[in-house]
Amino acid sequence: MGFSLYVHIPFCVRICTYCDFPRVLLPNVTATSAGTTAPETFIQDPEATFSAMTRALRALPADMRSRPVDTVFFGGGTPSCVPPVLIAGILRTARELFAFDDDAEISTEANPEDVSPAWIHALLDAGVNRFSLGVQSFACAGPLGRRHTPQRAIEAVGHLRDAGVTNLNLDLMFALPEQGQAELARDLAELIALSPEHVSCYGLTLEPETPLGRDYAAGRYLFPEDDVWLELYRTIQDRLESAGYEQYEISNWARPGRECRHNLRIWEGADYLGIGPAAVSRWRRWRWTEPADPAEYRRRVEGCLWPQEGPSPWAAASDTVDDGGEDIETLLTGTRLLRGFDLGRLHGRLREDCICDLRTKGLLWQTGGRVGLTRPGLPVADSILAQLVDALRAPEESVR
Ligand code: SF4
Repeated sequence: MGFSLYVHIPFCVRICTYCDFPRVLLPNVTATSAGTTAPETFIQDPEATFSAMTRALRALPADMRSRPVDTVFFGGGTPSCVPPVLIAGILRTARELFAFDDDAEISTEANPEDVSPAWIHALLDAGVNRFSLGVQSFACAGPLGRRHTPQRAIEAVGHLRDAGVTNLNLDLMFALPEQGQAELARDLAELIALSPEHVSCYGLTLEPETPLGRDYAAGRYLFPEDDVWLELYRTIQDRLESAGYEQYEISNWARPGRECRHNLRIWEGADYLGIGPAAVSRWRRWRWTEPADPAEYRRRVEGCLWPQEGPSPWAAASDTVDDGGEDIETLLTGTRLLRGFDLGRLHGRLREDCICDLRTKGLLWQTGGRVGLTRPGLPVADSILAQLVDALRAPEESVR
């Protein structure tokens, strides 16, 4: 059984106004633009962090190295703001240590302003075969504090296509400041004209401690209310489907056969190993998170050995997951997928009356042994998930 490798590259050259992801500013970049006023950790040496990531890979116990890699995903942060030779080095080390499937999916996220023909060719040469571009919006990007213009995003897609890239995701966001149906229609029209194989479209989450969260609290922009959010989401579903995209997850659409295999495997419960600051791993019954601060990550990786299979010895937090925790994970990830999840994974621990009730309300479908959210259920996934979690029996009450 193979596994997925996730590599977290925590560096950014500007902090977007809505961002509370694990990331740090690259050195010698001022944090003055786009409302970014929060103090940031300035780190001095991305190369040293990549060395520590390489060392972490080499330190893996033999048992964890014996399984082939099916998918690799470079996420961030901004993987495209570091020299591609660093990404190539991680891939070279991974190929030395693991068997790779012949058709392994190797993805990287990128920001449009970093995408040049030389950058693309360096990554293609390293073996990357899927690119995910953070466009976010053509019409309402201003308050987000992104570095690129809409035109630069279009140019980046042109460079990728010219280089022969045939597996491309574009990220959009919705429920943005000052966004209504007209602005969303422009975003969707521009995106569809670029004809990516895959589209991710997430609603903006306002975090109170970000500049945009503070703008919201101060009433600086109009933000869509809940009923508008729902209308925008439905517009996205309808427009993408009429353009030939199939929705396969709450926030993801793809041309037939072009789903993101890496994310699908994770949502379906496969093991994955996360390398780099703040990376999360799930391996058998263990879950762990690496230290978010690159300096701390480097210090811990340099100071530890990884003597046997188990959580990373330099993890900031680790846990073992019991049957109850496993059930919650199954629901968390399985309800995201339109193909639903196999009820058998819950060993009879999900109460039938809850499933029946949600089916009667038209929010859940059930076919054979699978259950999933219906179209009306998707926008209220969080509340359905909470009801399903409440309907779980304790593991000792299993009905097998
Ligand atoms: S590029 Fe991504 S990770 Fe970096 S600041 Fe912007 S949203 Fe956050």
